[in-house]
Amino acid sequence: MTYPEIELYVGGHWLRRPGAPIVNPADESVLGTVPHATIADLDDALDAAARGFALWRKTAPNARAQIILRAAALIRERVDQMAVAMTLEQGKPLDQARLEILRGCDIIEWDATEGMRQYGRVIPAGPGLQHTVYRQPIGPVAAFSPWNFPMSSPARKVAGALASGCSIILKASEETPAGALQLVRAFHDAGLPPGVLNLVYGDPAAISDHLVPHPTIRLITFTGSVPVGKHLAAMAGRAMKPAIMELGGHGPVIVCDDVDPVTTAAASVVAKSRNAGQVCVAPTRFFVHERLYEKFAATFAERAAQLKIGNGLDPSTQLGPLANVRRIEAMERLVADAKSRGARVMAGGQRLGNRGYYYPLTVLADLPDDALAMNEEPFGPLALINPVRSLDEAIAKANALPFGLAAYAFTRSADNVQRLSTDVEAGNLTINHFVASTAETPFGGVKDSGYGREGGTEGLGCYTIAKNVSHQFTPAG
Ligand code: NAD
Repeated sequence: MTYPEIELYVGGHWLRRPGAPIVNPADESVLGTVPHATIADLDDALDAAARGFALWRKTAPNARAQIILRAAALIRERVDQMAVAMTLEQGKPLDQARLEILRGCDIIEWDATEGMRQYGRVIPAGPGLQHTVYRQPIGPVAAFSPWNFPMSSPARKVAGALASGCSIILKASEETPAGALQLVRAFHDAGLPPGVLNLVYGDPAAISDHLVPHPTIRLITFTGSVPVGKHLAAMAGRAMKPAIMELGGHGPVIVCDDVDPVTTAAASVVAKSRNAGQVCVAPTRFFVHERLYEKFAATFAERAAQLKIGNGLDPSTQLGPLANVRRIEAMERLVADAKSRGARVMAGGQRLGNRGYYYPLTVLADLPDDALAMNEEPFGPLALINPVRSLDEAIAKANALPFGLAAYAFTRSADNVQRLSTDVEAGNLTINHFVASTAETPFGGVKDSGYGREGGTEGLGCYTIAKNVSHQFTPAG
């Protein structure tokens, strides 16, 4: 199985640098080396991004779209080889890696075409006076993408920036660098002019300290943990720069008493096991009406125990290894705490083997509200199931945490849907299924889960500024 040589991409040039090992989570072998950018490399990237922006903002939207669409077409051609590299570095099963890449293409394609429709508006203000609102690209963007979606997360940031006429410096994950590398390679091969897109890896804090306050950078976008997001948002605020912050979540799932507990539990297991639960929109806290509770929990546990766990390259694998040893340690800490507080372990509960980061889908029931797992984002294969007596109680519990990213509900009642739609505190509420976001919809959080949006017209809007030109002229006649 081939894993690509990881390089930096600055000003249209591929650069090799010494760096750190990249570990395969399936067997802890070393896949390669991630190069670390020097401060001089970052300065070169900043210069390149400034030149790239000057050129790209003047490029016709249609011409921009053609290049972006060509990159997406190349990625679609390369999906199989890209997916293998991502499974090797991140652990997710191969079919999920393929789906992530294809979803990334959907996003790139949608943004590319929507970027041709960044219309302004004309506001007639009376005889001889007209206001014209222009949507202009905001400028060079500094983007920070995480390890859990090595391709689709950087794709969102790159597509949003490029489709809006911005240049971008992407600092992708050092632990899963191939997803971003292959994405950037496709844009290079599609003929993107040098400097419009730059890719760096290295010491995350050193890179953000250098890029975020730098005057060339006009927008920060970050996907990752709440503490790092707050740190970067504060840094951006000190430099008076806007930011898009896609941070953690603790997805509540409200199961009302008018649905089938068996099919709902089965769908929940599939959703929870996706990327071994290392997903910011993962369903995590299940609040199930007491009438369905035991049946739902028992079905969930039974299906969870049936999942085939193994190396993601094996086509029969349904649950791959966790991406790094930090997630194993987190699962062990959260499960030990929940057990000590009286939670029932209905499936899983223990690391599997000691080579590779395997942890089963673990089902915990009857957790007290103060269990650590009920408050801290598990970011792993933990499902927490508790009974509720009413929709009011479920909504109150769903809203009790400082997170507000994705929330889910299962019901057949239009009245319940209306109530949930107005009262659940989340950027994305999904009813009767588990797809929290698509290319054409805005995605993002409230409260500690962040601000700004990715996806949809709202997402593209974050990469532009509204400039008003007010024009007094001689009225006709
Ligand atoms: P972490 O807090 O150490 O790092 C989170 C991400 O931020 C990583 O990609 C890291 O490289 C980056 N980072 C860290 N310090 C930085 C800095 N000063 N400047 C720029 N980037 C910086 O946590 P971790 O162990 O990698 O992941 C653990 C937690 O992160 C998870 O529990 C989850 O809550 C969160 N996370 C969220 C997402 C998401 O999609 N929202 C993705 C990955 C991780």
